Amino acid sequence: MEQTAARTRDQIEERFKWNLKDIYATNADWERDFEAVRAQSEAFARFAGRLGEGREVVLEALNAYFGMYLRMMRLYGYASMSCNGDNGDPTYQALQDRAATLYVKLSAGSAFLSPELLALPEQTLLDYAADPAFADYDVFLKELLRQKEHTLSAEMERLLAASQDMAGGVSNVYDMLADVDMRFGDVPDGRGGQIELTHASYRGLIESRDREARKAAFERMMGTYGSYGNTFAASYAGNVKKDLFYASARGFKTARAAALFPDEVPERVYDSLIEAIHAHVPGLARYVELRRKALKLDDVHMYDLYAPMVEGFDLDMPYDEGFALIEKALGVLGEDYVQVLRRAKAERWIDVYENRGKTSGAYSNGSVYDVHPYILTNYVGTLDSVFTLAHELGHTMHSYYSNETQPFAKSDYAIFVAEVASTVNEVLLLEYLREQYRDDPKAQAALCNHLLENFRTTVFRQTMFAEFEHKAHAMAEAGEALTRESLCAMYKGLNDLYYGQKGVVDELIANEWMRIPHFYNAFYVYKYATSFCAAVAVARRIREEGAPAVEAYRRFLGLGGSMPPIEELKTVGIDMSTPEPVESALRYFEETVDQMAAMQA
Ligand SMILES: [Zn+2]
Repeated sequence: MEQTAARTRDQIEERFKWNLKDIYATNADWERDFEAVRAQSEAFARFAGRLGEGREVVLEALNAYFGMYLRMMRLYGYASMSCNGDNGDPTYQALQDRAATLYVKLSAGSAFLSPELLALPEQTLLDYAADPAFADYDVFLKELLRQKEHTLSAEMERLLAASQDMAGGVSNVYDMLADVDMRFGDVPDGRGGQIELTHASYRGLIESRDREARKAAFERMMGTYGSYGNTFAASYAGNVKKDLFYASARGFKTARAAALFPDEVPERVYDSLIEAIHAHVPGLARYVELRRKALKLDDVHMYDLYAPMVEGFDLDMPYDEGFALIEKALGVLGEDYVQVLRRAKAERWIDVYENRGKTSGAYSNGSVYDVHPYILTNYVGTLDSVFTLAHELGHTMHSYYSNETQPFAKSDYAIFVAEVASTVNEVLLLEYLREQYRDDPKAQAALCNHLLENFRTTVFRQTMFAEFEHKAHAMAEAGEALTRESLCAMYKGLNDLYYGQKGVVDELIANEWMRIPHFYNAFYVYKYATSFCAAVAVARRIREEGAPAVEAYRRFLGLGGSMPPIEELKTVGIDMSTPEPVESALRYFEETVDQMAAMQA
């Protein structure tokens, strides 16, 4: 493994650090643009009350509005990424704070734009949207009209906006209790010692090969949450009521309908995901059974689900080799795609190694529209590191092609499609590696295990979460109380359904919903499952059909936010309003289960 943890940022070779000078050559240039955007945001007030004056004024206002945001994103991107390279650097902390403040000012100063436009006759907006001079803004204008039905009077909107801060209170209470105040004490570390159980150490412990260690961590974690169960139920119930309040204030029938509205995702997509997953629970059970045999257990408890089934295979790949591997695996996407990948590396779009103070994890930032996307990662040369890099490169290429193809106002793609490009890359890399290691049974098993775990945690688990939040909101909408008892019973029931066929569903799992922060951002996690399934279906088509599927996919990468996400996916032959893509993905899951079973036999 490459050891980099102790280094300070200036000890890292230039070629492994991103080049933010592509955005601003110096901080002085940033300062100049900052002043310019501040002046623009103040000058934008000249349009207030004038949008009824006609076409020229509206066009001028839209040009000014999007031009200002484009520059704002440059300012913010430069400041936040500079900061993330070393979060302890006060210069960039200050820049980031100032950029964030300017952003808020800009939003507040331009908040009149949408309501004033919406006050115009509908036909006027439709005429503008069809006018070639407004070509960059047609999606924005149509989207405004679509939202009109759920937009309230200016006075009511002000009241709703003012209530947001207060409504966020329960989620703040949750964060403070779960992340700051709660303590879990020490547990066995699996190597003869003790370790403090934290959210971070739990991850390693639940994956421990030592069964007593993972059991102890599981029981302590779930047990501690359970001892605050009434508080968690009260805070979650408060959050669900918040969702119901905003949904009904805006005239939606249900909280779920309100949550799916911005992405234009029909509710049947959500239901059909759940139905398809239920139909494939027997496949999940076969995976649990494989796991039982691999780990040589009598039965699989909830704390046995994360331990690796295969030991003794990993990559140990320096960055250059890992990158070359990704280039080869993604070669199927076309020579010009690979050319852009090479540029990403050669032109230093990527911040590769860990250093003191650098943000952990990995992300791709495609928000600096007229420069290029950037990637932050913490590469250590393992199989996981290479997959993470391939994943982030998927986001980066999606942003690159969307930014290149679409005008700024239509370049940003929806979350609903955001994980497609990243997962396609992961699947292509996995299949490539399986071919490379054709004659190495240990590698085959480790790669299958990697894929099956992705499926279990991204598709099955996130769908189970989606089902939990759907049921909880439906209970509240039917006037049922959300209590510790009712929520735990419901969550336990879901685990029985998903894992009960071959696993032992421990009583304590009933508390697990309490530790899922995503439940405070309702109806979001289903997108992980649908994106993953769509991506697997796309990758299958690319591998099976070749050129026509690649061409369609390449066009998809350039669509940005120019179409509703469901329609964008249809251009690559994926219709998420039918169960077929989820079915296709789950067939791939089951084929992999079969292959792994054959290896085990
Ligand atoms: Zn991602």
